[in-house]
Amino acid sequence: MFQDRLHNLANQSLLRRLRPLGSATGPTVELGGRTVILLASNDYLGLATHPEVIRAAIRATEHYGTGSGASRLVCGTLPPHEKLEEALAAFKHTQAALVLGSGYQANVGIIPALIGQGGLILADRLSHASLIDGCRLSGADFRVYRHRDLDHLESVLKRRTASQPVLIVTDGLFSMDGDLAPLPELAALATRFDAMLYVDDAHGTGVMGPSGRGTLEHFGVEHQIPFHMGTLGKAVGSSGAYVAGSAELIQYLINTCKPFIFTTAPPPSAAAAATAALAVIQNDAARRIRLWTNRDQLYTGLRRIGFRLTETVSPILPILVGEADKALVFAEHLLTQGVYAPAIRPPTVPDATSRIRVTVTSEHTSQQLDAALAAFLQAGIAAGIL
Ligand SMILES: *Cc1c(COP(=O)(O)O)cnc(C)c1O
Repeated sequence: MFQDRLHNLANQSLLRRLRPLGSATGPTVELGGRTVILLASNDYLGLATHPEVIRAAIRATEHYGTGSGASRLVCGTLPPHEKLEEALAAFKHTQAALVLGSGYQANVGIIPALIGQGGLILADRLSHASLIDGCRLSGADFRVYRHRDLDHLESVLKRRTASQPVLIVTDGLFSMDGDLAPLPELAALATRFDAMLYVDDAHGTGVMGPSGRGTLEHFGVEHQIPFHMGTLGKAVGSSGAYVAGSAELIQYLINTCKPFIFTTAPPPSAAAAATAALAVIQNDAARRIRLWTNRDQLYTGLRRIGFRLTETVSPILPILVGEADKALVFAEHLLTQGVYAPAIRPPTVPDATSRIRVTVTSEHTSQQLDAALAAFLQAGIAAGIL
């Protein structure tokens, strides 16, 4: 039975396979006995392999063990989680923060805690899968608006019934397109229509804004948007997620967010690593500057070669290909040329918008990026993209 389904996926070029690595994910990675340039990781600042971050994880493991034992409500809360929440609140300029096991858990847990049956959720069409699942799980009436289309959103908002609770849902920085949600306008619409605004800043945190505080800082709307979530597994280089907001919201979520209540707390090592990484993000601005320099080198190079990119303004540089089979062929040629950057296909992205999702980090060298650009040119020609 599953064999048939797998064949079906393969026939549509939609089969996915795991590729075993022989090293940590860094600017390069060992794959199939070769060293290739990795342009696929969301560890934008290279913090997953930062010596201080690793040391913090080891120290926490030595002190508190490898596992947290239970939900924090069941067997007590360990210092690494408390310290991380204090550090997150300080970093995000909010009263409080709450740590969860992953961004996926955060979204499927927090959204249903905020709104339920009788409510209305309006989500950007390109919102991350975990947001969409959270919206569906909530039991609220759920509609999508066209990507970043404020007129469309406003027209749906106008049709809401009076007194119906409304939640607007969006990525801050869109994971598969690298473009930004219009947060100032979304915040204004939310105020005008008395709606809540839920921003997922998974890719913005550590990357966007003069201090790396994220997409809210980038737009200068930290005071207009009272809470938001993000992950600790991307630029923060660890694992887990957070929601930052008022003390009241956090207390409410401790009491209502099921993936907080009914999951074992993340390991102490992950929390301690994230705290150490937040310190690096705040004290080592040079990393973020290198990230943007590298982003500009790769963006300019890919455009000069003649690739069609999304309207990206970030270190996520998706090359639009179209059909899934073509994207797969392109990815294989890239690998032959020494670059690992995956083909992203439906259902992760809409039909006929398959792409190579290229991401760059602060730790790539300029020479590596030049070598990668040469590989993109060769692979693009071989795959018939150029
Ligand atoms: C990766 C991602 C998530 C999920 O976060 P994890 O911590 O990896 O589970 C949620 N939202 C967006 C926008 C993401 O890109």
